[in-house]
Amino acid sequence: MKPLHIHTPLWESAPIKKRTKQTVFLKMECFQPAGSFKSRGISCLCQEYVNLGKTHLVSSSGGNAGYAAAYAGRLLGVKVTVFVPRTTQQLFIDRIKSQGAEVVIYGNDLDEAAIKAKEFLAEVDGGYVSPYDHSAIWRGNSTIMDEVVYEMNKPDAVVVAVGGGGLACGMLEGMHRYGWQDVPLYGVETAGAASFAATVRAGKLVSLPKIDTIATSLGVKMITKKLFEWTKVGEVVPITVSDADAVNAVRYFLDDHYVLVEPSCGAALAAVYNQVPELADKKSILLIVCGGIGINWELLNQYLKLFE
Ligand SMILES: *Cc1c(COP(=O)(O)O)cnc(C)c1O
Repeated sequence: MKPLHIHTPLWESAPIKKRTKQTVFLKMECFQPAGSFKSRGISCLCQEYVNLGKTHLVSSSGGNAGYAAAYAGRLLGVKVTVFVPRTTQQLFIDRIKSQGAEVVIYGNDLDEAAIKAKEFLAEVDGGYVSPYDHSAIWRGNSTIMDEVVYEMNKPDAVVVAVGGGGLACGMLEGMHRYGWQDVPLYGVETAGAASFAATVRAGKLVSLPKIDTIATSLGVKMITKKLFEWTKVGEVVPITVSDADAVNAVRYFLDDHYVLVEPSCGAALAAVYNQVPELADKKSILLIVCGGIGINWELLNQYLKLFE
């Protein structure tokens, strides 16, 4: 089956080199048709369900995963229902609906929306599209490496944003496939959604009591067990940045590359722009610009005012 994602550009950033003196390769996943890297993993899972004969896909997501499922479902010609919590921004709801999916608003957080989604799933005999927790999602996300490996040399570090850990797991799978297993992977979160950092600190899977960040795509209380397992295989290290850092990085990136991304992606950019200690001695870095549809002119202004 033809993949539903595209081969994205890899840019060696001259503006960032000027700022940090490092060679930073930007994998521009923001240019995926559904606005983020989720086009890779989510559509891989959706295709798997359709191959199994499912005619209805059910997602629970406050954002890009629901949008990617809606996009994939439209192209595959199946019904899509996305359960979103009450806290979801109208922007996301409107954009998911614009892909032809049905949106059901339910519950106070993602966990509550997910429970309802699974009840509904049983009624329609559908396929459940997790935002980050499925081997088909990791396999789909790992296709980033299939492209990158022919376009650059092995870097000193790979940097990704971490929500539930689906992107990180995909990258690690791909890195192992191509002999990059000795390259450390840094997973960046905002302080109000630092479930990966908490898990590494505790040495076991930890569920955060609450989420408090504007980087809503990172707002997952507990990472996938698979990412925790990867931390035992190689150097897989959490980095935490503030919401303000993430928003400022969105602005720097817009100035540097004329591309607007959401704050969740800004978190990963912030680790590089702020030259966090973990990355300070790295000469070359591969940074996944994960993208995201959760941003527009109005929201950007709102966020900038918030952190002025
Ligand atoms: C989903 C998402 C993330 C987090 O990815 P995980 O696979 O959940 O770790 C980060 N940024 C954006 C824009 C996303 O859509």
